[in-house]
Amino acid sequence: MTRPPIDLRSDTVTRPTDAMRRAMAAAEVGDDVYGDDPTVNRLQALAAERFGFERALLFPTGTQSNLAALMAHCGRGDEYLVGQEAHTYRYEQGGAAVLGSIQPQPLENEPDGTIDLARIAAAIKPVDVHFARTRLLALENTIGGRVLPPDYLREATAFAHARGLATHLDGARLYNAIVKLGVSETAAVAGFDSVSLCLSKGLGAPVGTLLLGSAPFIDAARRWRKALGGGMRQSGVLAAAGLYALEHQVARLAEDHDNAAYLAEGLRGIGLDAPPPQTNIVYVSIPRADVAPLREALALSGVLATVAERTRLATHLQVSRADVAAAVDAFAAYFRRG
Ligand SMILES: *Cc1c(COP(=O)(O)O)cnc(C)c1O
Repeated sequence: MTRPPIDLRSDTVTRPTDAMRRAMAAAEVGDDVYGDDPTVNRLQALAAERFGFERALLFPTGTQSNLAALMAHCGRGDEYLVGQEAHTYRYEQGGAAVLGSIQPQPLENEPDGTIDLARIAAAIKPVDVHFARTRLLALENTIGGRVLPPDYLREATAFAHARGLATHLDGARLYNAIVKLGVSETAAVAGFDSVSLCLSKGLGAPVGTLLLGSAPFIDAARRWRKALGGGMRQSGVLAAAGLYALEHQVARLAEDHDNAAYLAEGLRGIGLDAPPPQTNIVYVSIPRADVAPLREALALSGVLATVAERTRLATHLQVSRADVAAAVDAFAAYFRRG
């Protein structure tokens, strides 16, 4: 085995390219806690401009960005409506409740990742001394690799606003949706009061998430960022990677989507249930008895995957078309032998 492992575990495993590393090394820096880092300021200004928000704020992680956003929207004893499958509800240790004193009201996601408007309507609490104050609707796009339909986003955000709720989008992989639909950034976030956008997933930066919103909202989020772990100093080194990603690594997400489609097709070709993906995330069903031995067989052939009955495979910057073909061969070799 001479080639490096083919890592399909996640698009978070992407490493900075040589060109990105050069941009990081050359970054002009200052102390961002004083607002002095020109590269951070440039990244924040570029993102705000692209997405049509007043301001943007760089966070080290998406978890911190989402939590600061929830805390800027909701106070103690307030409630936010969120999908059962949403990252902020399910995969962030309940931080909104633990650290924000915000009650989550989880709602069932439909098979396409949306939350039915009737379910949202039924969950909004009346103004009454018994109830938490329902303040916010949080959606996620893409969710489990699925792109939320633009019509749905328009309706859901308009409905939330009509009912007096604010709207937050966990757009960790929003650029996958934007590239898939071929829409503008501003169209993709229309109707949202705030958006969190990860630079460290498919966009390929090593660290960083941008939170977008109005000036007063970002001021509030900046205060919470400090309480949630402080500020960063010469973070221009990190912002330079984010700038490089936004300037050079957006359009190429289409390659990841093509590779994911090719991967799913290959897996179907060997008789597995792997529906065509919408973006860069493929789900494939693996019979329970095969989970452990398949994991081992793949590892031996240099394919890293989190094998489960519902296995999630991600394509990204460091997975080529040839890598996908080799990964399909590794699956095929196991099932042929099986
Ligand atoms: C990765 C991710 C986050 C959190 O980002 P981290 O940088 O890992 O904290 C939030 N939401 C979604 C949908 C994600 O995929």
